[in-house]
Amino acid sequence: METHVLKDFIDGKWKNSESNDIQPTFNPSTGQVIARIPYASKDEVSEATSSAQNAFPSWATTPILERAKYLFKMKNVFEQKYEELARLNSENHGKTIVESRGDIRRAIDNIDSAIAVAYTLAKGETLDQIAPEIDESMVKEPLGVFTVVCPFNFPLMIPFWFIPYALVLGDALVVKPSEITPVPMDGAMKIIAEEVKLPPGVLNIIHGGRETVESLISSKDVIGVAFVGSSPVAKQVYKLAGEHGKRALVNGGAKNSIVVMPDANLNSTIPAVVSSFFGNAGQRCLAGSNLVTIGASHDEVLNKFKSASTSLKIGSAFLEETEMGPVVSKSAKSRISSNVDKGVEEGALLIADGRNYKVDDFPGGFYLGVSIFDDVTPDMTLAKEEIFGPVASTVRTKNLDDAIDFINRGTRFGNMASIFTSSGKAARDFRRRVDAGNIGINIGVASPAANFPFGGRRNSFYGTLHAQIDTVDFFTDKKVIISRW
Ligand code: NAD
Repeated sequence: METHVLKDFIDGKWKNSESNDIQPTFNPSTGQVIARIPYASKDEVSEATSSAQNAFPSWATTPILERAKYLFKMKNVFEQKYEELARLNSENHGKTIVESRGDIRRAIDNIDSAIAVAYTLAKGETLDQIAPEIDESMVKEPLGVFTVVCPFNFPLMIPFWFIPYALVLGDALVVKPSEITPVPMDGAMKIIAEEVKLPPGVLNIIHGGRETVESLISSKDVIGVAFVGSSPVAKQVYKLAGEHGKRALVNGGAKNSIVVMPDANLNSTIPAVVSSFFGNAGQRCLAGSNLVTIGASHDEVLNKFKSASTSLKIGSAFLEETEMGPVVSKSAKSRISSNVDKGVEEGALLIADGRNYKVDDFPGGFYLGVSIFDDVTPDMTLAKEEIFGPVASTVRTKNLDDAIDFINRGTRFGNMASIFTSSGKAARDFRRRVDAGNIGINIGVASPAANFPFGGRRNSFYGTLHAQIDTVDFFTDKKVIISRW
């Protein structure tokens, strides 16, 4: 079957790309191609950025409450099309439909949060009579055109960490979805184009990969980049943005540890920990990756974790009963399996092997079972590097100090860390001493609500201002006016 080629959305119109580089995108549950995407040329990038640049002056001077009205429309139409968006998300990513519904909810939460910004946080500050006859005030102004570069694993939620805020604050955008999962954002843009009717050029979508991103960042029209992806690419993007003097908010990869203290209530802890490691088939930047046990409680924690994990129902993203869907692509499947091979070679003990998992109804799907390692030591690659798949490494430590030391020194990442305990003192020590941006206390996936910044430290984040609400300061600059009358 001939599949359609996605179009770019530039200057308020859908456009066929003239690129000769056209690649397929898949439904991971079945392995079938569902669409193809063009990799935009430099000329197409410049068409998109100049359309945003042309749209910016009148958008920036549109009253903020007028701009907020577009977001009210966007929120309403996303609520109406909630299930359709969730299905597109699952179809292209492979995460379960239940997980996709959660993603869409968080995207809408960010629209809500940006609407609140229009009424509160975007206000300036004034101090009358700071000196005799002198008043001083500060206003936040939009800056121009930003680009948003997205990863594959939250095809809709992550673009909406940025889009609503930039729009309400008066900036114009060129968004580049992941080339692996471009379909959900294409679907959302169709809905926005039909129902929200933003002024042409205010929100553009362009498809492509590395070269497209490089052209976007180096474009004279673009003032800054918000990026989410893996750490090696994040570093390159941050460097490129610096070379071109651009603002940058750059989220990288992760290697998250979850500590289960001997006093944790395992009845509530185990389901939360299993869902952290294997929800989204482990492809979440907040997923647990290292299970850190303390002293003699190791065997009980690991046995219960293994038993609950290996009984997860694995299958098509669209079956309501599925608890873990496929991974995103054939190459992700083989990369994750090679990480398991490597763990075995390095001497860790593989106690659950998900490498050859098959789902009989969908032989072409990109399925893996859960893999669990025991006896992982801090020097092993398994303990240090991101795998981004359904693989758990169990690391034994002697006590909480030892566990915190492992988290802070064992990996270069600082995205999330969690502790499960019934001790307030242990929880407090943990949150104060662990060097990570998002901390879970009896929570397996410590995902900040839309009206909090999405944290990240060390190799998990480059920049100063974070995603979600922090973008109010990323997408604006402060101007101070001192006047004497
Ligand atoms: P990726 O780094 O491969 O790609 C991300 C984006 O960068 C894509 O749009 C891609 O087209 C573009 N890109 C790829 N190579 C590039 C290059 N050399 N120069 C410029 N742009 C380039 O990431 P992915 O595999 O799509 O996503 C998974 C990664 O994202 C994981 O490492 C995960 O931890 C991370 N992630 C982080 C967060 C966070 O908030 N810290 C959230 C979600 C995902």
